[in-house]
Amino acid sequence: MFERIKVKQLNEHVYLLDDNGEATGYLVTGKEKAAVIDTMNGIEDVHKVIRTLTDLPIMLINTHGHCDHIFGNIYFDEAFINPVDIPLAMEQTQHKEFVELCAKTGLSLPPFKPVSDRATIDLGGLTLDVIGLPGHTAGGICLLLNEERILFTGDSINHHLWMQLDECLALSSFYENLKQIAFVKDKADFILHGHAQNFDSIKLYDKLLDGVKDLLETGGKGDEVFDYEYKWFNGKCRHHPFGNGESVICYNRVD
Ligand SMILES: [Zn+2]
Repeated sequence: MFERIKVKQLNEHVYLLDDNGEATGYLVTGKEKAAVIDTMNGIEDVHKVIRTLTDLPIMLINTHGHCDHIFGNIYFDEAFINPVDIPLAMEQTQHKEFVELCAKTGLSLPPFKPVSDRATIDLGGLTLDVIGLPGHTAGGICLLLNEERILFTGDSINHHLWMQLDECLALSSFYENLKQIAFVKDKADFILHGHAQNFDSIKLYDKLLDGVKDLLETGGKGDEVFDYEYKWFNGKCRHHPFGNGESVICYNRVD
């Protein structure tokens, strides 16, 4: 029925929405409300996909303002986001792909509504805590599903962390911000990030923290074992392995 978006039910209340292997969103269904966490690329109507899964009123929350998380917002009436990321989101909507998408669908971004750090969103029987984690973007947030001990991290904690973009904070600031939220280790067992196919262990938090620390201490060694050249769609940067080389931090500068 849907060509791009594949649905995977992870447990009774949590669904993973995989947009053609390019980006991942989530649906969390409480007793009274459903939360949609990120909406992917918007090429296919993610709202329609969600309506095959639940009739509950929907609250859409963006983990940050990047295109592959917010473009699907066009299918919704309103979208919550940390206001710090609104300028970035608006900048992303200048992309040719988005202008064409809006022309093709006749839709546009709904109004953004602010979500504040440490707010709690009550879905009825399930609660999501908003946890700010500036780094990958200045207004990035994580969402903690308390009752199921799941931390949704967007692109802020993952196996392929992009810190090379102009909008990324300095690695040292990100490191401090990561340390600030160490309490998540006591509250979550699992991580679901914005490009995942399944659960990760919360241990990814410590692995990333160690990786950033190591990168800051070594400054990137520039050899093939440690830091080496990485090509992405907008140029080249370096990347630094962490977690036994299974994961990397992409970066330009160590400061
Ligand atoms: Zn991102």
